[in-house]
Order: sequence, then C-alpha cells, then structure tokens
Amino acid sequence: MGKITEYTVEKKTTFKDNVFTYGDYTLFYYDHDSPLNAELMAAHDGAIIDARDVQQAKILIRRIRSSNNAEVFLKPVFLINYKEHFDNILTELTDGTLLSFEQISEKANDIKAIKTLISQLDKSESKTFEVQVFKKVIDYLYTREARTLAPIPDPNSFIGFTYPVVSVNFEPFEEFMVLDILDWALTQDYIWPDYFDRIYLCNQCKSAHVSMRETCPTCQSSQLKPEDLVHHFSCGYIGPISDFKNKIDGTLSCPKCSKNLRHIGVDYDKPSLINQCLDCNEVFQDYKVKARCLHCKNDVEVQYLLAKDINVYKLTKKGRNAAIAGISEGDVELENSVLNTVNFKTFSTILHYERQRMKTNPVLKSCFAVIILDNIHEIYKNVGKNNEKALLVDIAQIMRDNITPADIISFQNNTTICININDEEYAMAEQVINKAVQKLKDLVSNNFENFELKAKYKVEGVKIDKQFETQFREITKLLAEQ
Ligand SMILES: [Zn+2]
Ligand SMILES: [Zn+2]
Ligand SMILES: [Zn+2]
Repeated sequence: MGKITEYTVEKKTTFKDNVFTYGDYTLFYYDHDSPLNAELMAAHDGAIIDARDVQQAKILIRRIRSSNNAEVFLKPVFLINYKEHFDNILTELTDGTLLSFEQISEKANDIKAIKTLISQLDKSESKTFEVQVFKKVIDYLYTREARTLAPIPDPNSFIGFTYPVVSVNFEPFEEFMVLDILDWALTQDYIWPDYFDRIYLCNQCKSAHVSMRETCPTCQSSQLKPEDLVHHFSCGYIGPISDFKNKIDGTLSCPKCSKNLRHIGVDYDKPSLINQCLDCNEVFQDYKVKARCLHCKNDVEVQYLLAKDINVYKLTKKGRNAAIAGISEGDVELENSVLNTVNFKTFSTILHYERQRMKTNPVLKSCFAVIILDNIHEIYKNVGKNNEKALLVDIAQIMRDNITPADIISFQNNTTICININDEEYAMAEQVINKAVQKLKDLVSNNFENFELKAKYKVEGVKIDKQFETQFREITKLLAEQ
C-alpha cells in the first residue's frame, strides 16, 4: 500500500477591483458602495457582502437568492462587518460571517462542498412556476446539507411569518403563495409538517395584518362600554352595576329592594359582563369580534378569516432525492374543476349531441334547468376565495344528490348552474329542480345565520329547432329580468 503524503500549500489571497482571489476561488466583494446587482457575482465562486448597513445587505441577499440564474442564487455568500445586528433572515440566507478577509481560508472547504453539491443537481427546466420555485428551495437546502424549512416571525412579512428560502421568491403582497407552494409540496410528499402555530389571514388579500375589535351586533360600532352585571341574591334582581352605584360615594345599593350591597360572594355576585354600544345605545351580552384588514380595509367577522397552519417542514426522502433526480411534472395537476361537474363548454357540446339524438328519435326526452343564485356573491365575499371553491363543491353535491347519475351539472360561472336531466317528463324535471333548490336554500340558511339565498330557476325541454346556446341565452335573459 502506497504512502499518502499530505501537502499544505500556503495559498495566496489577492484583492483587485472588488474581486477577492483565494487559491483557485474568486469571490465578488459587494462593498458599501457597490450597486445592488446580483449578477455581478455570476462569474465568481461566491460573494462577500459588507453588512454594515443591514437593510442594504438584506435587499442584496434577497436579489441574489431570488435570482433565477443558477450561477447566482445557489452560490455561497458571506457577510463581513456584520456585528451589531443579528438578523435571523439575513443569517438564514447566507453561509456565514467573516471577521476579516483572511478568514476566507476557513471557509474554503464550505465553498468547495457547495460547489460539488451544486454540480450534482438535476438541471432540467421546470414548466410551472410552483415547481420552479420549489425546485430552487430543495436545491438550496441540498447544497447546504439542510433539511428544514422553519418559519420566522416577521413583522415585514405580509403573512406574519417568513420561510426565508421560499419567501425571497415572492413580492410581499403575494407572500401567501409561499403557503400554497408548501401545501402543494406536502400533498406531493416532498416535505412533512410539524405544527408550529396558526395564523388568520384576510379573506380578500390574504394579509395577516388585521386589527381585531369587539363590535356592536346592531350597528357594528366598536365604541362599546363593558359593564359588570350585578346579581343581588336576596331579591334576585340582575342589572348593570351602574344601576346599583350611588352617584356620590360609589357604594352599591339595589335599585329594586333598596338594600345596601356589601360583600361580593355573600350578598351579591357579578355573573358576567354586559356591553353598551355608545353609538346606538344597544345593550347586549355577546359582541361580535370583527377583524379589519390593514392592507385592503376589508372588515369581516373573525370566523370568516382564513385560518392557516404554520408548520416547520422537513424534507422527506423523496424531497431530498428530488434535488438530484428532479421533480416529475406529472406530479403537478392542480385541481381546477369542481367535483362531479363538467365545464360549460363540455356541457354545451353534450347538449348539442342530445339535440341530434332527439331529432332522429322523437321518443327521447331531455330537459335542462338554469339556476341563478342571485345574492350568493355576498357569501363569497364573506368566506373568501379559498372557501368559495369548497362552497361550489357543496352546491354541486346537493344538486347531485337530487338527480340521477346520468344527469349532468355545469357551472357557467360561480352564480349560474346548468343541469341537464334526461329521460324524464318536463313536470318531473321541474319537481326535481324545485326540490334541489329548496335543499340548497336550507344548506345556506343552516350555515350562514340570517342569510336567505335568493335563487331563480327555469326548466325547459331541450328544443330541437334551436341551438342550445341560443336557448340558454334566452333563459338567462328571462331570469335576469325577473
Ligand atoms: Zn385584506
Ligand atoms: Zn351599536
Ligand atoms: Zn335587591
């Protein structure tokens, strides 16, 4: 066996025109005055950023890590002059801190390791944005031999938490997409979750910056005065404490029996609070908690906010492997259609052929119904975009429960439903639709307090002598004018 000799070679460091050379490696040095241009480091093995101004360093590192140029975003970046502030996000997105340029010799192995790992990555182009972003994320983790995506509470984040490596790829107002991508990766088994916390987002713009307050159920005002409710044991009288209070000395006496109240728990107690609205004077026990979005001003009851789990994610074996094996585009099938329905174009085509069949066989019967949900927009507004789809699925299911499997449902849009009913007399079809619409109204009133769904519908036999589109337009026009 041959003898292995180790040589230690003193490597030279040189510095010229913002390029720092150490042995075989060159690093671009972003000094305090350098343009914040991520591409400047593309031709080098990495970068060193002067982090004296932490905000400026953050802007630059965001540009580097969000770059789509693989020669930029994956490369090692070190901070120098990073002393006074400790910023989690900056730390997470960089590969270490240098106290002096000489210290780069201690990082040489890291630079080499990252370079080697980068060379192992799958480099095929991704077709969809989701896959592209997620591939960048797992590539970054792979080249850093990291496995965890941990959320960092961040007041600058639109959703209140930042997953730095993922979030850099998004503008603040679209940061909720970080959660969409992580959800997608979860359904594809690339990551697995550990519950960390829950956030509540505005159901319109998905911002976590909402201001909550107790409001009057009658006039929505937040100008409420809470008061103790007092229960006098001996006579049973219950009323707000102000009714008991002597205006001069503040002692308590019962407005009903005039006895003095002395000891709480002995001759009286305070069973609960009561609220008075200072705007409309309404007195009530249960206020409504509303949340006003500080970004889009949307103001809804808190039950309508979007609740999202914030998890710490770990890469699965499949996830780690995807960095070098790639992500199969076949995995990406974002569900667009509502379960058990066909899209409107398909519906039209089916009805077209139905007409042809009826022309040749006059015994065939076919009806179709148009249902317009007049005021359902108000519910959509309250439940938000995410739940709108879930609601449509429920609506489709109710319709489905009332018709036969051979009948066809289609949403022309989120307020107009078309149903094709085959082999049924007109009167029977009318009955079926009437029942389904009633069920739908019940669903809505059971789920949305004080809301009455206004639904209009019309059932007609499919006409042989008329194009389906024409017949459909005539019916919707008729319904709209009702
Ligand atoms: Zn909002
Ligand atoms: Zn009020
Ligand atoms: Zn009393």
